[in-house]
Amino acid sequence: MLEAGGSNPVPVEVAPAVLAQIVAHARSEAPRECCGLLVGRPQLRIVDEAVATANIEPGTTRYVVDPADHFRLLKRLRGTDREIVGGYHSHPRSPAVPSPTDVAQAFSAAFLYLIVSLLDAERPDVRAWRISGEEIRQVPILSDQ
Ligand SMILES: [Zn+2]
Repeated sequence: MLEAGGSNPVPVEVAPAVLAQIVAHARSEAPRECCGLLVGRPQLRIVDEAVATANIEPGTTRYVVDPADHFRLLKRLRGTDREIVGGYHSHPRSPAVPSPTDVAQAFSAAFLYLIVSLLDAERPDVRAWRISGEEIRQVPILSDQ
């Protein structure tokens, strides 16, 4: 179920350079979905790095983050004050809204799901979501232009 309002969702801050990198990754992988992990400081609700990972799912309508890439990143972040706060993937031919598969695969309400849509090739649409069971909430993205 898609929820529009309710209690105000707390925005997340994503640097413009990070957003640009995610869009570039999406474009380079199309028509396949790209995927990656988001690193930041969860307490401050800041995403300051996007790490591109391999999509080990064959085909064009799904993604699975390469576990080796995931593990390498966990190792790099160990002992720092930064952590994996979410993930991103692309929807080359559909809106930046979680698909039924995205909802089914969501494993943590604390995880931020960022989706970039290339439906309008001129104007990629990037949106952030939190998914808790069947509840889907859009999270506003703050980005200093
Ligand atoms: Zn998706």
